[in-house]
Amino acid sequence: MSLPSEIDVAIIGAGAAGLGAARALENSGLSTIVLEARQRIGGRAYTVVAGRGDSPVAAPDITFDVGCGWLHSADRNSFVEIAEQLNLEIDKTRPPWREQSFDAAFPPKERADFIKALDEFYDRAEAAAKIGRDSAASAYLEPGNRWNPMIDAISTYVNGVELDSVSILDMEAYEDTGINWRVRHGYGLLVLSYGAPCPRAVNTKVTLIDHSGKRVRIETSQGTLSAGKVIVTVPTNLIADESIRFHPALPTKVDAARGLPLGLADKVMLALDEPDTLPKDGSLRGATMRTAMGSFHLRPFGQPCIEGFFGGRFARELEDAGDGALAAQAIDEIVALLGTDFRRRLKPLAASRWARDPFARGSYSHALPGHAGARAVLAAPVDGRLFFAGEATSPNFFSTAHGARDSGERAAREVMGATKP
Ligand SMILES: Cc1cc2nc3c(=O)[nH]c(=O)nc-3n(C[C@H](O)[C@H](O)[C@H](O)COP(=O)(O)OP(=O)(O)OC[C@H]3O[C@@H](n4cnc5c(N)ncnc54)[C@H](O)[C@@H]3O)c2cc1C
Repeated sequence: MSLPSEIDVAIIGAGAAGLGAARALENSGLSTIVLEARQRIGGRAYTVVAGRGDSPVAAPDITFDVGCGWLHSADRNSFVEIAEQLNLEIDKTRPPWREQSFDAAFPPKERADFIKALDEFYDRAEAAAKIGRDSAASAYLEPGNRWNPMIDAISTYVNGVELDSVSILDMEAYEDTGINWRVRHGYGLLVLSYGAPCPRAVNTKVTLIDHSGKRVRIETSQGTLSAGKVIVTVPTNLIADESIRFHPALPTKVDAARGLPLGLADKVMLALDEPDTLPKDGSLRGATMRTAMGSFHLRPFGQPCIEGFFGGRFARELEDAGDGALAAQAIDEIVALLGTDFRRRLKPLAASRWARDPFARGSYSHALPGHAGARAVLAAPVDGRLFFAGEATSPNFFSTAHGARDSGERAAREVMGATKP
């Protein structure tokens, strides 16, 4: 769609939040457009078929969710009903996160000991959060506990950062019902299909939102348009760095975004030769006593592949090390756990580099200690004309795709409430 010169509601960003807002406004009588900097919609929801086309490796087609993969809190996840309406198959296989497929790599007794230490850490943090004073989650690690580095590793997967950067109040606000499903052909495909009807302009990067006049003037890489109202859904790091600017400036929003930076989680997909020797939907992790280590999902959906997951400072180091570093690290770790034969059997197919993605600059938001209240500050409308959505504005499902979508719907309701009949 080409850029109109005037619109009732401009939505900035075509991720789950922006698409959620646009879908909620579709019968409102208001004209809308989603302005998206990338060539594609979906944002951090992105499915690729790895192994297809000009991949250097001959491999069967493999569904790879480069961003979100799990329908977290599936019994309360609004994308579940949407997937059903779109006839997209949902896989309810339990996630293997707390299990381990190879006893030799992590003996059952050691594993039970680790899970106990992990649960005790969560209990201490929860009890502290109930008192209502914020602090860094790392303060609730038991001093000297041998599992602390691995508990921190779990934080790098869940929060994208180590526990010293995580607010306990924010951690406790997150609602996890413990039910996690997947979309067989990709969560990214689900978000893409959901957003397909939305009017949008892709390859349209917004640089300035000028709300000094009667109407809001939006400068983009494709020209300027004027809007009655604007819903901003871009990731926090872009607001914090003022990569998208407001005039007059909105220091409260910039500060809130700085308190909610995006942590880093990166994934790598490896094709697996002779797959039948490994269990379907298995899990592999070593008792390495390090924070800097990957976690591996064996044969997701039974596919002939292994998906590796890295988080926090280690993921950042691997991105800095350049193309191929994530895959090389994953292969080294799997070989150390399962044997040298795997060096021959594994081939890199695709990997993410979310910190280097100019329109994400990270993976998902976490509140820094002392900044749990920033989510509500970021979400608050300005002047009845600027509205804010995106995963970071969700009070209890932040860092997720459904939390993002629901926040878009919330912002759409605010827009309609602020629109005089
Ligand atoms: C590796 C990884 C694993 C994850 N795993 C899960 C999971 O299992 N389950 C889950 O629920 N969630 C998961 N997430 C998180 C989930 O993907 C995000 O929370 C969600 O997709 C964010 O949606 P959003 O709309 O808030 O932001 P985004 O999807 O980032 O959308 C914002 C959009 O704004 C666009 N944009 C940015 N700047 C501009 C600009 N200047 N002008 C115009 N457009 C702009 C971006 O290109 C983007 O399309 C994961 C994320 C990552 C990276």
